[in-house]
Amino acid sequence: MRLLLIGPPGAGKGTQAARVAHAYGIPAISTGDIFRANVDEGTPLGLQAKEYMDRGAYVPDELTNSLVLDRLAQTDAGAGFLLDGFPRTLAQVYTLDDCLEATDGGLDAVVQLTIDTDEIVQRLLRRAKEQGRSDDTEDVIRKRLDVYQEQTHPLVAVYADRGILVSVDAKGDVGDVTERIFGALGGRIRRAEG
Ligand code: ADP
Repeated sequence: MRLLLIGPPGAGKGTQAARVAHAYGIPAISTGDIFRANVDEGTPLGLQAKEYMDRGAYVPDELTNSLVLDRLAQTDAGAGFLLDGFPRTLAQVYTLDDCLEATDGGLDAVVQLTIDTDEIVQRLLRRAKEQGRSDDTEDVIRKRLDVYQEQTHPLVAVYADRGILVSVDAKGDVGDVTERIFGALGGRIRRAEG
């Protein structure tokens, strides 16, 4: 099973990624988490990434792509994976396409989490208080939302054209959203087989 979760900051991708990946027995690969771990450890990659993350900008594709390609080459990703936060740009889509073509196939499904902007800003400001993430200030949140609209939202249409997109409402209870995702994936897979 090769899955991708896509949606704006604050949609709950990380939370849902962990639950869905666990259910399918595949690793959840989050570029945001990998960057944050590198920042905490003070690695050269972390030092470079922090500069972009703290102002709500995307880390350059060259850095991000090589990080993800390394991660996908590890043995636990051989039987499948769930990507959270990658790809976020068209260039990253093409890098992932090339990587998957070199193995034995593309993505099975792309799950889009949908949520309105007011709810996002509220959630992220709450998370700022709870977790103290340095990119969760109101200015940086708005910047991240703009960057998402501009650079990442267009990817939804790309995957819809490929016939692998499912959209799920990300409002409400964490457990309800997870059930919606399973429902959407189950339907899609049955259709694909039928
Ligand atoms: P969110 O989706 O809430 O913005 P993430 O944890 O997914 O949070 O990402 C945090 C930051 O990490 C992003 O704002 C960006 O700077 C960087 N980042 C994560 N994934 C990518 C990516 N695929 N390409 C470029 N930058 C990324």
